[in-house]
Amino acid sequence: MVCLAVKAGSPVTFPEWKALFTELMPGLEVQDWYAPSFDPARVDYAFVWQPEAGRLAQMGKLKAILSVAAGVDHILADPLLPKGIPIVRMGGDETETQMADYVRWAVFSLLREAPRWHVAQARASWARKDMPPTRLSTNSCVGIMGLGHLGTHVAQTLLAAGFKVCGWARHDKQQEGIVCYAGPDGLLPFLQHSDIVVCLLPETPETKGMVTYSLLSHIRKPAGFINVGRGAVVVQADLARALQDGTLHGAVLDVFETEPLPADSPLWAMSGVLLTPHVASEASRPARARYVVATLAALERGEPVDRLYDPAQGY
Ligand code: NDP
Repeated sequence: MVCLAVKAGSPVTFPEWKALFTELMPGLEVQDWYAPSFDPARVDYAFVWQPEAGRLAQMGKLKAILSVAAGVDHILADPLLPKGIPIVRMGGDETETQMADYVRWAVFSLLREAPRWHVAQARASWARKDMPPTRLSTNSCVGIMGLGHLGTHVAQTLLAAGFKVCGWARHDKQQEGIVCYAGPDGLLPFLQHSDIVVCLLPETPETKGMVTYSLLSHIRKPAGFINVGRGAVVVQADLARALQDGTLHGAVLDVFETEPLPADSPLWAMSGVLLTPHVASEASRPARARYVVATLAALERGEPVDRLYDPAQGY
């Protein structure tokens, strides 16, 4: 019998996960990570986001780690993470659709000055004369930093919404309708081509601290920045400075170096900024259970799986 260890967001949600998994894969043994009776020696697969240090190392016959989310940085943070065990990232239609919906909302919010209208509304101010000229989707280029699984889907939906779209990744790509840049040499032309930059980079040793004041200053003015990748990719003090001095006109931020964002962060009170608490894409439990079961079945059949973490690349 195949055994899946599930670390639910809280012990209360475990029964729902168990019901979903056993309905989709009858015969699967589902163990509660928090239960006193938890037996690490039985575990074949672990479904987890933020394991306590050393817990995974106790699972002697672990075959794969299935991440609850698309990022795996919280799993890699375990200093005792067993070596050589495949890590599979969360995917699926819902993950992609939610991210694309969020980014379209964020892009339109910046294009149509939503953060500033919110401030005006809170003051009961009919602020028609205080806004910059209205911009058009068809005249605006959205630059996607990180043209991977999610970035590619987001780029296609923005293209369909009428925007010009460009993208930047590590490797050269060809995608219809999207101007693609790659590597360190492609970064500056990518930024200079973009009116609004969407960061969809994973957190890796290479990307950590990559988005600096200098980088933000190259986005076309009035510059917009959206971060849905990882907070640590951005130097938070540089981001605040760029927003304060007008280098950045506006930002929509979903991820932060420290989460929850500390109450004394200057970002909370900035008029050009919309903040959300890391909610851009969080597929429903049924959708995630379906993805996990499909992955488990493929792994059990010895078939290759999509979205495998590559230690050589760091993502
Ligand atoms: P992928 O691994 O499919 O894509 C990552 C992209 O980043 C690739 O295009 C890759 O380039 C590029 N990249 C990585 N390192 C570099 C680098 N050093 N220089 C240039 N480009 C680089 O990941 P996903 O699209 O599935 O997810 C992206 C991230 O989104 C996740 O890691 C996670 O952090 C975040 N996320 C956030 C969520 C939220 O709710 N806010 C929800 C889900 C995900 P190449 O294609 O050339 O390999």
